[in-house]
Amino acid sequence: MTVSLTQPTTGPVPSGLLRSVERLGRDVAAAHADDVDRSARFPAETFDALKEAGVLGALVPRALGGAGLTLAEACAGVRALGRHCASSAMVLAMHHLQVACLVRHGRSEALRQLLADVADRQLLLASATTEAGIGGRLRESSCAVHADGERFELEKQAPVISYGAHADAVLVTARRTPDSPPGDQVLVACVKPGVSLEQVGEWDTLGLRGTCSPGFVLRAAGPLSMILDDPFADVAAETMLPYSHILWSHVWLGIADAAMSKAGALVRKKARQDPGTVPPGARRLAELDVVFHQLESLATATLARYDEAAGGQRAESVGDAVALNALKVGASRLVVEVVTGALGICGMDGYREGTPFSLGRQLRDAHSAALMVSNDRILGDNAQLLLLSRDPGGTDRTEGKV
Ligand SMILES: Cc1cc2nc3c(=O)[nH]c(=O)nc-3n(C[C@H](O)[C@H](O)[C@H](O)COP(=O)(O)OP(=O)(O)OC[C@H]3O[C@@H](n4cnc5c(N)ncnc54)[C@H](O)[C@@H]3O)c2cc1C
Repeated sequence: MTVSLTQPTTGPVPSGLLRSVERLGRDVAAAHADDVDRSARFPAETFDALKEAGVLGALVPRALGGAGLTLAEACAGVRALGRHCASSAMVLAMHHLQVACLVRHGRSEALRQLLADVADRQLLLASATTEAGIGGRLRESSCAVHADGERFELEKQAPVISYGAHADAVLVTARRTPDSPPGDQVLVACVKPGVSLEQVGEWDTLGLRGTCSPGFVLRAAGPLSMILDDPFADVAAETMLPYSHILWSHVWLGIADAAMSKAGALVRKKARQDPGTVPPGARRLAELDVVFHQLESLATATLARYDEAAGGQRAESVGDAVALNALKVGASRLVVEVVTGALGICGMDGYREGTPFSLGRQLRDAHSAALMVSNDRILGDNAQLLLLSRDPGGTDRTEGKV
């Protein structure tokens, strides 16, 4: 089988919306990616174009006016965008993830209406799970929902909210009541103007600079019907964890696509300059292609396992959580390996900014992968989960719900 180094080798047949994302990646995101990165600014041009094409409603069911795309199609879209601008791709991935949580776990009339509004008005959804004093411990909150009659109030010290200033709503984890323990959490859809974000600090980071993710004091008020129906424990295990790790891994695959494309182009250029010889970089490219395919196989195989629309299963067991955590840790390491290897092949042309082979942005963006929920924390979770498993690493990993 001949395998292209620059194009995905698996994935669904592109739908019209998916083709739009691929085209916008090439025509819009690519043109602005370096400036977005340099200025640490929101990729406004790309999101204006994505909204114009209706992409923010991609995962909203058709019955609510959305496109009803599958997880696989959403993954193909963020991968396509990630080749050109990883910040844009990560923002879109995080938005899709919030939509998926609402689709599966928000049954109130108000939450169905919010989904309809996402499709109709192209609302952008952000997330506030990380909290001061709690850090990345997703399954704990310090802040709490304060109910008064049919309404709630909520205040959260959030050290990181990606594109918070540009979002129309933020899905926020909080304790169910002020008397609830840290693990008794709900997910609350806080919609502007009912939510205010007071920025704390700046977002001047190594990579993913266009996600614009500073800290905020979040203050929200609204009807209790904006609290998702299922406990956050179920939302996290069944949807947030699988969708985030699968969608993020496809953003990282997009970064790896870009790196392989640049390395391949440089090696072919060298080969053309000296016809009849095999440039030294060709062997390194072949070796790097092995790593690239490990990343691609890991991401696409895990996607296939959990893409319910394509007959995959719902993530519910201990074994599922272990596999999805392994995807996150593995893919976040492999993307750095691929980009670093491509830099070795491109040499100074890759190290220098402003050449067709520059890899600085991809390398910096790739390093965010290990931090977006610390790999140490995820490995710590898996260490505990594997102790529960009767057959770690084997096939018997279907014990009890997470
Ligand atoms: C680009 C980007 C965008 C983000 N966007 C958002 C967003 O939109 N919304 C949001 O809520 N959050 C967001 N985050 C935050 C993210 O999800 C994590 O919660 C955050 O990166 C964790 O930060 P931390 O490493 O300081 O904290 P922690 O996870 O608390 O970790 C602190 C340190 O402790 C170590 N550590 C933690 N647990 C263990 C363990 N079990 N064993 C050993 N060592 C451990 C880690 O290695 C780390 O060095 C974003 C992060 C990034 C990088």
